[in-house]
Amino acid sequence: MPATAIEVKDVSFFYNGHPILAKVNLTVGELDFLAIMGPNGSGKTTLFKIILGILNPAQGSVRIFGKTPREAAGLLGYVPQDTGLNKDFPISVFDVALMGRLGRTGLSRRFTSEDRELARKVLEQVGMWDFRDRQIGKLSGGQRQRVFIARALSVEPKILLMDEPTASVDAQFQTDLYSLLKELNSSITVVVVSHDVSVLSGYINSVACLNRTLFYHGSGEVTEEMLHSAYQCPVDLIAHGGVPHRVLRKHDHKDS
Ligand code: ADP
Repeated sequence: MPATAIEVKDVSFFYNGHPILAKVNLTVGELDFLAIMGPNGSGKTTLFKIILGILNPAQGSVRIFGKTPREAAGLLGYVPQDTGLNKDFPISVFDVALMGRLGRTGLSRRFTSEDRELARKVLEQVGMWDFRDRQIGKLSGGQRQRVFIARALSVEPKILLMDEPTASVDAQFQTDLYSLLKELNSSITVVVVSHDVSVLSGYINSVACLNRTLFYHGSGEVTEEMLHSAYQCPVDLIAHGGVPHRVLRKHDHKDS
């Protein structure tokens, strides 16, 4: 039995009295690769922020390897959809990776040789070391995304949460990105918010649909009817190399 990486129990959350999440339950095992999908505004980013301890749930609880999100801060790496970094800001790839170290140790200190070594390691991991001196704004969207993954990895997390960019990115970029996440998944639990799951085939091993409540399907339990009634997602069940994967067919949501 793998350890439980993330346990979300009966979590509800409101913005200005409006229910955003209602009794969400989710268990993610260590080294799982979970995709969370759902229409725009369905609460995916909010759920990530609750898992990260940035927002507190009105009800329910979250545990990360048995700890509260605050206690577990160093165990979580986060790649937000909006990185908040001005693309024109003259900062190098290496410095972006290095900045991630501040999340672990606080803002008011100097970088050590260990920080620099880790920044090198994570840039190598995502295939961006050769670009270390390049200004972040002078990269392609896909390359920039890799650097932000490196920044998230620089805290040496056990779990990587990634809010996939909504901006339309080409299929090759998506495939490369998922290949990278799959590689990382050999040593780290990965949860990705995905908007286009048609390219997820062969990478993820579970999928959850969020639409204020969460429809999560433990291994082997998902059925087309369940997903369709929850979320209007047509789903295919396919096996890759003996491991069953649940893959949603390409589809459109009126509101996404
Ligand atoms: P998703 O990531 O699935 O697109 P979000 O979690 O970002 O959804 O948002 C869920 C809902 O909460 C949306 O209706 C959004 O408008 C609302 N919301 C998000 N952030 C705030 C905020 N800071 N204040 C008020 N409402 C918010």
